[in-house]
Amino acid sequence: MDEIFYSEEDLAKWRQAGKISAEALQYGLSLIKPGASVLEVCDAVDKKIFSLGARPSFPSQVSLNDVAAHFCPDAEDKLILSDQVVKLDVGASVDGFLGDTAATVDLSGRHEKLVAASKDALAAAVSVAKAGVRLNELGRVIEQKINSYGYRPIINLSGHGIGKFQVHTSPTVPNFDNRDEELLYDGQFIAIEPFATNGSGSIYESTTPTVFMQVAKKPVRSSDARQLLAEIQKYEGLPFARRWLEGNTFKVNFALRQLISAGCVQVFPPLVERNHGLVSQAEHTVLVRKDGCEVLTAV
Ligand code: MN
Ligand code: MN
Repeated sequence: MDEIFYSEEDLAKWRQAGKISAEALQYGLSLIKPGASVLEVCDAVDKKIFSLGARPSFPSQVSLNDVAAHFCPDAEDKLILSDQVVKLDVGASVDGFLGDTAATVDLSGRHEKLVAASKDALAAAVSVAKAGVRLNELGRVIEQKINSYGYRPIINLSGHGIGKFQVHTSPTVPNFDNRDEELLYDGQFIAIEPFATNGSGSIYESTTPTVFMQVAKKPVRSSDARQLLAEIQKYEGLPFARRWLEGNTFKVNFALRQLISAGCVQVFPPLVERNHGLVSQAEHTVLVRKDGCEVLTAV
């Protein structure tokens, strides 16, 4: 496992990114009310991140009910909040040092336990995370806590390592005991993100992605695709939303399809619970230390 040691200056940027992520999340949560537009919430949170001196690590995402993650509205989206189980997932980037944090609001008033299950599972995992602890131990603790509420963890969604300009990197931080005995190490940055559900405990990828990420720069034939490839350089390998792209929708979609089939762009479709169970999520970015972990996205 490659261990990267960051300078004090870089550490300060990680901490700043975490702090802004946490502030943006709290702000976003305050906007989650019946009658609010999903698009307006996402735009407002993205704007908040800029106003705090950072950039979004990825487009702010609001995923409802059986959608576990990766729902991001298009510009013409009309979705309105009413009585859903609402996940808000946000992150701030300070010069590529990233935060990633999420929480759930139950607007129905009937699923508080489901919200508590992922929140308490996160707290339990954070309380045991330190250098030398096995990854599957975090998974075991998460699974046990979620089971204690009578729910299931989503086993094909996981936390992850997080690196400079890399929202997702190794290792996989499991939400169940996956037998991975790899050890956490001092100085490691990871996102821990339990998902709890009253459904089957697994998700599938739905069909229409609205979040994308550049993964390569390869020659493409069409001038629209070349233009889009030039435009998305500014995201520096971080995910972006379709509604952030310039130009008419037809041209943008055409160019995106070209970049996807050329292997330049990866898609992140919404992730839906297989049995359409309700899903809650909680997430923090933490810095693993010898004697515990520093929660960078703590409120
Ligand atoms: Mn996240
Ligand atoms: Mn994450």
